Amino acid sequence: MNGQAPNVAATQAFSDRAVAQALAARIARRAAEIGRPVNLMEVCGTHTVAISRFGLRSLLPPSVRLLSGPGCPVCVTDQGDIDLFLALARQPGVITTTFGDMMRVPGSETTLATEKAAGRDVRVVYSPLNALQVAKANPGRLVLFYAVGFETTAPMVAAALEMALEQGLTNFAIYPVHKTVPPALAALLAAPAVKLDGFILPGHVSTVIGAGAYAPVVERFHIPSVISGFEGNDILLAVDMLLAQIAAGEAKVEIEYRRVVTWEGNRTAQEMLDRFFVPVGAKWRGIGMIPGSGLELRPEYARLDARNRFDTPALAAQLPPPPPKLAACSCGEVLQGIKLPTECLLFGKTCTPVSPVGPCMVSNEGSCAAYYRYERRPRLAEGGVEPWVN
Ligand code: SF4
Repeated sequence: MNGQAPNVAATQAFSDRAVAQALAARIARRAAEIGRPVNLMEVCGTHTVAISRFGLRSLLPPSVRLLSGPGCPVCVTDQGDIDLFLALARQPGVITTTFGDMMRVPGSETTLATEKAAGRDVRVVYSPLNALQVAKANPGRLVLFYAVGFETTAPMVAAALEMALEQGLTNFAIYPVHKTVPPALAALLAAPAVKLDGFILPGHVSTVIGAGAYAPVVERFHIPSVISGFEGNDILLAVDMLLAQIAAGEAKVEIEYRRVVTWEGNRTAQEMLDRFFVPVGAKWRGIGMIPGSGLELRPEYARLDARNRFDTPALAAQLPPPPPKLAACSCGEVLQGIKLPTECLLFGKTCTPVSPVGPCMVSNEGSCAAYYRYERRPRLAEGGVEPWVN
């Protein structure tokens, strides 16, 4: 009982209106002091949704722009990986397991949801451990898990692999498309078209890798960076901390989300990652190949990679080219903060959550879906969609 009252009060402060107004006023003062436009990128899909859901843009001065980054794991997955995984899902005897977000992500010709409707065995799971249970219950069939996600999800996948080995399950394999955040930050900052003044860094990923993991990027590019929690006032405070760094001409990693994130991160989770995975170059949608930004299974665990259970080169050679409507999708630019979702010509017209063209509209954490759900204004008389307040 003793510690309960302060915790409740502290929790309430994260969504308290008066605190939000005080933070907004302080942000406005700092923005005026800086005296130029400032682009801040949130590098986490959960932040993207929180910013839109809480209407935080409406609390900021026009000179402070919040741009969404490549923080939705489904969105950044390369089209070739999606198509190849769909091809594996069609192989005889396979049970496909995946997080729900992947079901409607458009491949070039089909989706997992379409394949399921056509009679393929495709199952939504909430954890890789659920996928393991499916494998245990179906010893005569090969169970594939589509391992999508950042450093937050990858340790859970490593734990499932460890259990599969301990239990002698030979009918379980993953298709690893995990991505890591720090190399992506470096790639963004090195891209000439991307103009950023600071990063709102991901809270969940940072619990695993620790704040120290960003220090090399922050030092190299002199980019102010703050790790934020997910409540409205967490994010406003992170914006305020970023503006304070910018006003002072500083660039360092700060932790706003101190109740969860440490400088070192979670050593146990890091060890699990190291045991099973090695960093490799990985393709990101719209960004391209980023050295060291993917996680591949170590050679001794090659049999746990779904691609090694099939004649993958032959399957890859039969994949169709992406259809023209995917080429019109601006997801790649949206993921780099180069375009707002509302600047995509298909937004709210051809592309909606009911009929998504690209993954940024499918995933719950996709910025196009977040804009459509929370930041869309009524259509103007002549058609088109009015952009958000900033
Ligand atoms: S609105 Fe649709 S088509 Fe446009 S970038 Fe977003 S997902 Fe792609």
